Amino acid sequence: MDDTYDVIIIGAGPSGSYLAAQLAHMSYRVLVLEQKSAAGQDACCTGIIGAEAYRSLFLEAKIYRKARSAKFFAPSGDFLRLEREETQAYIVDRSSLDISLYQRAEGAGAEFRFNTAAKVVTPAEKSISVRAESENERLEFTAQVVVLACGLTCRFPQELGMGNIANFAYGTQAEVPLNDIDEVEVYFDQERYPDFFGWLVPTTEGHGLAGLITDEKPVEYLNDMLTHLEEQGKIVPADHHACVGLIPFDTLPESCNNRVIALGDAAGQVKPTTGGGIYYGMLSAQIAAQTLHQAFSESDFSAGMLSFYDDGWHRRLDNELKSGYRSRRLYHKLKNKQLDRWLQAARKQDLPRQVAEGQDFSFDWHSAVVMKIVKGLSLNPIELLRMMRE
Ligand SMILES: Cc1cc2nc3c(=O)[nH]c(=O)nc-3n(C[C@H](O)[C@H](O)[C@H](O)COP(=O)(O)OP(=O)(O)OC[C@H]3O[C@@H](n4cnc5c(N)ncnc54)[C@H](O)[C@@H]3O)c2cc1C
Repeated sequence: MDDTYDVIIIGAGPSGSYLAAQLAHMSYRVLVLEQKSAAGQDACCTGIIGAEAYRSLFLEAKIYRKARSAKFFAPSGDFLRLEREETQAYIVDRSSLDISLYQRAEGAGAEFRFNTAAKVVTPAEKSISVRAESENERLEFTAQVVVLACGLTCRFPQELGMGNIANFAYGTQAEVPLNDIDEVEVYFDQERYPDFFGWLVPTTEGHGLAGLITDEKPVEYLNDMLTHLEEQGKIVPADHHACVGLIPFDTLPESCNNRVIALGDAAGQVKPTTGGGIYYGMLSAQIAAQTLHQAFSESDFSAGMLSFYDDGWHRRLDNELKSGYRSRRLYHKLKNKQLDRWLQAARKQDLPRQVAEGQDFSFDWHSAVVMKIVKGLSLNPIELLRMMRE
């Protein structure tokens, strides 16, 4: 078998497999290297995907539930409920999503090698090579371009002069038996979930995922959360197996260089408000596919040519990312008392109804809704600006 490809993609997560399918459909010779032994193995993800994103990307996964409402809890335990008529999001089995994307890419002609970890990526003038290891066997592959879709823990972007993502947090969750919870619950409490939030998401009958995002000690915070949910009678006491993953809250300084691009979590293409990265990674994969098609038509794989990808996804996502980072900075400043007060104010102003009925509500694009909430709460603009700048 010839070991020369058009594109080598490192990582068979949703971003890598989605791009592999796009490129294979365009008849490029694509190789995907994945260190795990199968697609979807050990996925650490709640599997919430906006309904619009799910449909527009023609995704296929095992759907646990369709969600059209959620409860948002303040530290006091008081909550607001947001409900819309239409399904807003699908809660899916994340492993099944990865498997279906892999099957789609393989069906289109992409080649996958599981149990194969990329070790060294070396760009040269006329090609780029990847040294990999599979069950102690050393392998060498060559391509025109390498795509780093290898998640946040992957060190290749830094080694290849694209910088690194310094701002990230831990996402952790465990499967739990539920007591009569059939709606997504989101918890805000600066002591239990400092700077971020926790969630309880029902999946199959009587089961769900409890999780949180934190800057430190993910397992300790998760154990505290589970004890608290047990005390509240929301979940049934049981042995838990927690998984932990990293979530980027910044973007890579450069998402391309000569013959190489970074995609998905590796590039920081993640919603800063929620840490969800499935949709933005795939949107960016579409832009990567267009750029690579152009690069092949001009036989130009320089950083200059590939910067169309960098420009393209920044143009598409930057407004949301910047607004999301600002919201995060603001949230970091808030005390529990303020959160409690804001919830009461939001109820008084009938904000949940206004947000739910607003034309600008979107599960995946949050900047307009954030503005609506800020305006609706009549927050002191000077105080707000000060908090955001600090
Ligand atoms: C607890 C938690 C819950 C989450 N819930 C949601 C959610 O509900 N909705 C949502 O949209 N997002 C969610 N996310 C985020 C989401 O999981 C990521 O944004 C998404 O997986 C990113 O996809 P990716 O393809 O870029 O990277 P990944 O899914 O991380 O895939 C990267 C792949 O590269 C492989 N790899 C790495 N290095 C190498 C190497 N050297 N050689 C070969 N292979 C390699 C890895 O094994 C992995 O399979 C959650 C994250 C966490 C931690």
